This record gives sequence, structure tokens and C-alpha cells, in this order.
Amino acid sequence: MIVGIDLGTTNSAIARWGDGGPELIPNSLGEFLTPSAVSLTDDGEVLVGRAARDRQPVYPERTATAFKRLIGTQKPIQLGGTSFTAEEVSALVLKSLKADAERHCGEEVTSAVITVPAYFSDRQRKATRRAGELAGLKVERLVNEPTAAALAYGIADREDRDPFLVFDLGGGTFDVSIVEIFDGVIEVRASAGDNRLGGEDFNEVIVGIARERLRLPLGPGQPKLREQARAAAERTRRALSEAEAATFEVVWKDELLSTTITAEQFEAAAAPLLDRLREPVLRAMRDSKLHADAMSEIVLVGGATRMPIVRKAVTRMFARFPNANVHPDHAIALGAGVQAGLRARKADLDEIRLTDVCPFSLGVETMARDANGGLHGGRFAPILERNTVLPASRVHRFQTVHAQQCFVKFCIYQGEARMVAGNIKLGDVEIPVPPRGAGEVEVDCRFTYDVSGLLEVDVVVPETGETRQIVIADEGMDAGEAEARRSALAALKIHPRDQAVNQALIARAERCYEAFLGDQRAAIGQLLAHFEGVLATQDPRAIAEATAMITARLDALEGERYL
Ligand code: AMP
Repeated sequence: MIVGIDLGTTNSAIARWGDGGPELIPNSLGEFLTPSAVSLTDDGEVLVGRAARDRQPVYPERTATAFKRLIGTQKPIQLGGTSFTAEEVSALVLKSLKADAERHCGEEVTSAVITVPAYFSDRQRKATRRAGELAGLKVERLVNEPTAAALAYGIADREDRDPFLVFDLGGGTFDVSIVEIFDGVIEVRASAGDNRLGGEDFNEVIVGIARERLRLPLGPGQPKLREQARAAAERTRRALSEAEAATFEVVWKDELLSTTITAEQFEAAAAPLLDRLREPVLRAMRDSKLHADAMSEIVLVGGATRMPIVRKAVTRMFARFPNANVHPDHAIALGAGVQAGLRARKADLDEIRLTDVCPFSLGVETMARDANGGLHGGRFAPILERNTVLPASRVHRFQTVHAQQCFVKFCIYQGEARMVAGNIKLGDVEIPVPPRGAGEVEVDCRFTYDVSGLLEVDVVVPETGETRQIVIADEGMDAGEAEARRSALAALKIHPRDQAVNQALIARAERCYEAFLGDQRAAIGQLLAHFEGVLATQDPRAIAEATAMITARLDALEGERYL
């Protein structure tokens, strides 16, 4: 049997394709959500799910939660005296889900589709795959979480091609994705998020209100009271999803301390968190160049979107009601179940492909002159920007900055900060240049990057023909794999200006320019200038759109009949 698994930060869930639709499979407690928590008892027994999560307040050093944040790293997770990787701990959760499904369905689970956040790097994806394999599953494929949401909401089957926005607020993370579907191809156009914002932060708001009213001594010396208060806040917050007011209660020194919190008070105190929901939404729209009006709908995912104050904030932000037809904390697993069904029937699957985007900007360090001619180093010049659709190749031209310099060194960074000091250095490459005056020698620096995380940096001095290359592979990629990816990348490196189809379109437009006069000639001139500008961006999508538009305009002009 093949299943779909949502391996979440807070909770995980498993689904299969049932009679005509996806269905969730309950765990041994009869629940659909299994907390992503693992605990090791003194006897060396592994507990997974609710039992593990409930042990956390008492045995924090023997219990792990939120390890999805560490997947793909070698950071040790201590359980008792033993050290594990996030991959291994995740495998324990997957194994438990597999066992629950086998018990419930009376059938062996052999393979799975597992969901991952859209922004997961290749390293994180590989680690997730390995976690599945460690759990004894054949991982048929990894599916982006927003894609799974689209499948759960049935958006993938619809005729319209308008993009939609997936608003995913979980226990500890907030993710926004803009997704587009055309010709059965699901494409994540942009993703943005805040990995320090989720239901837990809203619990802190409730704890803050209660602490002040009840004078709770929540200092660092009181871990038990802290944990009690957090659990009470979680109950209060859930109750506020159903009612206008709820009671916060804790027992401290044999005394019951309680206070009633209204929805209005909660909303007022949570205003700073609600404000923080805006920025990732704006960033995703800005990166994809799509406005709120262009979204066919706003889809809610993640347990914390059940909070009425969050729904209200979303409604206000988009000036319309979001779609919450599917249970928000089941949506991803149900979508994975749909994908598992497709996979099992070997139907339609090839029509659903995913295009990935570059999760962060990649670029080099440069120097810039200020108004007084002073030179300042340490600036970051992005070459491949965040959310560029992969695979991608872009080239930028740089000039020497010092007179008589003999070398140009490119230091390569990943990140979004204006200064390289705020970004992560990946490597460097140096190339000799003929000694001349400052700014007289040009050097081209090309970045080529694909979904597997292989970055090729090629530098060329056009004047001398000198070239250098550095290849930066994601940790863990073996030599054979890297070689295969490199030959695939080699095909990408022609600048769009030099590609035959684009040259043919320019030639046609130039021919038309010569053939027409007046306004029509001026309009063709503008089209040509526009096309050259778009080619300079090296963005395949923008080029395809401009090509379609210009071809249509030229067809119309040339199609006018006078005879
Ligand atoms: P997820 O990471 O998607 O599993 O979301 C888990 C988060 O959803 C936790 O912070 C829960 O507190 C929150 N959550 C689940 N159900 C509710 C509810 N009825 N009202 C408010 N928050 C909820």
C-alpha cells in the first residue's frame, strides 16, 4: 500500500486514497494528528506522538519536538544519553505512522509520498527522503506542502488558471506560497515565511495576559509553572476558537488561579503578531509580481488558522473571505493522499510536475563608489535572486575598481542582506585581468543553479578569453550525481540574447520596422526596446510572455490587408 504523509513541525498525519477520495488514517489512539514528538524512556523504549509530547514537561532532556527545523543538518538531538540527527528522529515518527496505518488497514505499507515546505533546500529534501527510507518506506516522491494543499482543495482539477495563495500558519512556522496551475503543471511561483511565528507565539500572548492579572511568578526558576501556563494558554486559545470568552486556569501552590479572557482582549494583545502576518504575504506577492486581485482564492492551512482572529486578519488583508472548506490541519496530509492515489494508479501523475524556486538570493561581494568617490567594499550584488524559477542561469558584468589591478576575486554569498557580512559565504574564485586603468577591464560572472543545489560560477574576461570556474555542491552530493547534474546545467548557459529563437524574433521585428512608417514604426521600435530589456533580465518566464505578446502584435500588423 502507498500512503501520503504530512511530516509536520508540530503534528504529523497519514492518509491514503480510499473510495473515490483521500482519507486520513487514525493512529492507535484513534486520532488523526500525531504530535511530531519522540521521547526515550529509562528502559530505552521509544515513545512517539502524544505520549512523547506529554512527557516533555517532566523529561525535557529525554524528549525531542520541532526537530523538523533541524532536518538536513548534523546538529545533534540528545535523547537521554544518546545523540541522534533530526533525520533519525523523524524516521521514528514515520515508522510509528507506518505501523499505525498497517494496524488500521491490515495491509503492509511499502511506500509513501511525503510533503515538505516549498522552500526546503535540496539538502533538507534529501534528509527527508532518507528519514523515510530509515523508516522502511520507499519514498515515491516528495511533494511541496502548498501543492498538497492545492490537491486537497481540488484546485488542481479546476479549469481556471488563476494563481492562488496558500496561507499556512502552524504551531511554530508561517508559510505563504503563491501557486499557479496550468496544463496540469503545478508551479510554486513564490514562497515566503516567518519561521518564528505560529500558534505557540499566540500562546505566549495569553500567558502574558494571565501573568499580569494573576501575578504568576514565571521566572526562569519556575520551569514547571511555565509549562503549566503554556498548556493552559493552549486550552484557552482553542476555547476562544469556539466562544467569545474563555477561562485560563492554573493550579499553583494548591491554589486555583483563574481569569476570563475575551476574544476582544486576545485580539488586542495579539495585534503585533497579526501585523507580522502581512510581511511574508507582501513579499510573496512582490516576488511573484502578482497582486491580491490576481489570486483566485486564499486557502487556509495549518491548525493555527482556526483562530477567528487570524481569519479576521486574513479577511481584512485581502478584502474577501478565505477558503477553509478543508479541515486546515488535515489539508496537507489529504493532499499527500491524493498524490499517493495518483501514484498507485499510475494515472495523471506525469502531468503534475513541480517547478522549484531558488529559496535565497545568490550573488557576489562588490565595491561601490559613494558620491565623493570613496570606495566601499562588502556590498552584496545578487546575481540569482530569491524565488527565481529553477534551473536558472544569469550573468552579470563587472568592472575592475583599481588602476593596474592584476586579479579580480569574486566571493560568493547566499542571503538577502545588503552587506555580505550578513550573508553566508559559499566560496570564491579569482581570475587574472590585464593591468589597466580603474573600470577599464570587464569581467562577466555567471551563476547557474538547479534544484539539486549545484551552483556553478563561471567567470570570463571577454577581452582576453580567460575563464575560471568554481562548482559549489550541496553537502552530501556524490561525485557521479554532481557530474550528471553538471552536464544538464551546461545546456542552460547561452545568454537569451544569443539564443536562436530570440534572435529570430528580433530579426522579424527589425524587418517590420523597415517595412512600416509613422506610429506603427514607432510602436515596433518600442516593442524591440521592450524585448531587449526583457532579454537583459534573463528571466525565462518574462521572455516567454514578451515573445507571445510581440509575436501577436507583429502578426496583427503584418496581417492587415490592403489588397
Ligand atoms: P500544525 O503545525 O499545522 O499542526 O498546527 C498546530 C497549531 O494549530 C498549534 O499551535 C495549535 O495550537 C493550533 N490549533 C489547532 N487547533 C486549534 C484551534 N481549534 N484553535 C486554535 N488553534 C488551534
